[in-house]
Amino acid sequence: MKRDESRACCLAIDMGGTKIAAALVDSDGRVRTRGRVPTPETLDARELADAIHEVSLKVLAENATSYSDLSGVGVSSAGIVNSRDGVVNFSPNIPALRNTPLRDMLAERFGMPVCLGNDASLAALAEWQFGLNRSVDNVIYVTVSTGIGGGIIAGGKLYEGSCGAAGEVGHMVIDVNGPACPCGRNGCWEALASGSALASRTAARIAAGDSSMMRELCGGDVDRIDAQFVALAAGQGDALAQEMIATTAYYVGVGLANLINIFNPSVVLIGGGLTKIGDSLLGPAAKVARERSYVADACEVDIRQSLFGDDAPLLGAAALVMR
Ligand SMILES: [Zn+2]
Repeated sequence: MKRDESRACCLAIDMGGTKIAAALVDSDGRVRTRGRVPTPETLDARELADAIHEVSLKVLAENATSYSDLSGVGVSSAGIVNSRDGVVNFSPNIPALRNTPLRDMLAERFGMPVCLGNDASLAALAEWQFGLNRSVDNVIYVTVSTGIGGGIIAGGKLYEGSCGAAGEVGHMVIDVNGPACPCGRNGCWEALASGSALASRTAARIAAGDSSMMRELCGGDVDRIDAQFVALAAGQGDALAQEMIATTAYYVGVGLANLINIFNPSVVLIGGGLTKIGDSLLGPAAKVARERSYVADACEVDIRQSLFGDDAPLLGAAALVMR
């Protein structure tokens, strides 16, 4: 890549529980080159930082460019991120990250400043900046997969809260007596509306004796049931699977209604693995969200699928640099 072209690019990194992705991203949010490595199974944050550095070097080498040619380095990380201090407080699927000053550890390796944020918040930033071209000022982004995360664009900028940890929408309480959540509390949105919640609710019903083709599909081992499994059975007309997806859609909608009431967004974007189920989930969820929202009576809200899928946190890391 010529020097003037690479200068317009930044290095974006997405630090996830299973993989570390790195990419050169241009100012329009287009990925020029990308690389990825599995997240090292380690309890040592320095090994994670080294792995990020290595995959980044490979991406740069493919473009014959160096750190000094870049407009900046942005990192999105899973977990609770204090973006003000550049610290990952806790990340359930990356045990090495606990009160880890990841931003400064990486800045030291790269020899240049690094920006750090939460993956779902940065996904919201990417969807707004590169997807909606900042055409609206108030957007809620929600990602529904194994867990539920989110990001808030309020008044034309990313809402970060007092220490940069805002947007943990998955842990708003929907049912005070509800099921246990991985966060250690009960009845969180994530414990009712995520892919894991869909799977565990379905497994419990099959274990309790409900009839379903899923019993044969899983060979009697209900631990094999995941969201994809339920979606497959629903597509083949299985009544229990369809009921379980309808229940999940209902809970997704209830959470969205709360967010619409609080933030009065003009656009709500839903991403994450569970959206692959498609209209049988998103349609009913949007209907429940509108019916249960006090604010939606007064103000139109556009509820739709997000644009960038799995790339959103990576592109958000780039958007953070450009901000
Ligand atoms: Zn929770």
